[in-house]
Amino acid sequence: MTDVVDVETRSRMMSNIRSKNTSPELLIRKALHARGFRFRVHAKNLPGTPDLVLPKYKAAVFIHGCFWHGHHCSYFKVPQTRQAFWLEKIGKNQVRDAHQIAALRALNWRVLIIWECAVRSMKKQETPLLIDQIVFWLLQGSEFAQINETHLESVCSQTVSVTTSKV
Ligand SMILES: [Zn+2]
Repeated sequence: MTDVVDVETRSRMMSNIRSKNTSPELLIRKALHARGFRFRVHAKNLPGTPDLVLPKYKAAVFIHGCFWHGHHCSYFKVPQTRQAFWLEKIGKNQVRDAHQIAALRALNWRVLIIWECAVRSMKKQETPLLIDQIVFWLLQGSEFAQINETHLESVCSQTVSVTTSKV
């Protein structure tokens, strides 16, 4: 079987997935701002350039694309061509993510990963629920948490180890 898109299109898709200011990111920024939270975006002075930084809460937030960061969810599919290439690339990204989270933690930043699937699997009226989870974490949450497709259950109260398992 061949991939449905050519290499050039595929790499453009991948770079889009990786880019900043994605629609899930903009949605979250807008909603948090509307609730009165103020933040810096793409803070280059911190490990991993977190998508949102809220110094008042000592919180660094990443909105991760499920493909690029190798999330085990229904949104992750290995392209049908050059699979070894993509798996290696994504594997490296996962290792880098883990190091960046560890570096942030070492600097006493709390870290929240919001997976793209948490945003994309929502119906529009559910947005406030996702934002509730984020706000909950900001105000009283743990040192590290992730929000994924089943976002209502997955904010953890204890530190979660970062998995870098193979995709
Ligand atoms: Zn996902």
